[in-house]
Amino acid sequence: MSLSRAAVTRSVDDSIPQQYFPCMGNDVGSKREAKALSGLFGDHNFIHDPRINNATWNALLIAPKTMDDFRRIFGQRRNRIELRLEIYGDRRNEFLGFQLFVDGKEPRKGSTICPFSLLESTHRGDLFDIHTCTCMNPGCAGIRTGTAVSHSGAEVLWKNYPARPRRVFLFDRTQYCSEIFRACRHAVEFLGLSNGRSLELEVLTPADLEHHLQLATAEMEAMEARK
Ligand SMILES: [Zn+2]
Repeated sequence: MSLSRAAVTRSVDDSIPQQYFPCMGNDVGSKREAKALSGLFGDHNFIHDPRINNATWNALLIAPKTMDDFRRIFGQRRNRIELRLEIYGDRRNEFLGFQLFVDGKEPRKGSTICPFSLLESTHRGDLFDIHTCTCMNPGCAGIRTGTAVSHSGAEVLWKNYPARPRRVFLFDRTQYCSEIFRACRHAVEFLGLSNGRSLELEVLTPADLEHHLQLATAEMEAMEARK
């Protein structure tokens, strides 16, 4: 059973080596595209040099503009992130997925949302595969760019998320983090209460989500303590 909810799926050329596409729900259509994607999924090979300090890295992610530019553009306005839990599958095999809304709309409909990337994005800036495939290989779902998440002061900015038109989202950090933690806590609780339900992400278990939630919570507490 394919778990992919990609809006458009095309048949895959038989000659494409299967190891690139472990999930059958991909929409990669041509050999050329497959070649371009093999081992190189858009900017997922973007290398984070550990020598670059955090503030510099966060600034680089949104260059050439700066967070102050975006604060001027947005004025008092901030986007609101919202995560909804979704159950699908049949009675024997039920899956829990996340739906991501910004200001009440889904920026990329039908995508698999990765709660692990979202949790990670609450305490550091980077390129994250927030929108992905159920096998966690975003290229498989036709997604070639990660979302650049940049932190500065009270704001979290999203740039280049994989949807059109490519807008920029500016979130209030408190709202952003509390919504992600709320939804992930709710998911862990829900998965703990029900027998046999799994995450939509095929390679990860409910225990992995609980573990990541604990790590992210500890990371947030450490950040608060440093303030
Ligand atoms: Zn896949």
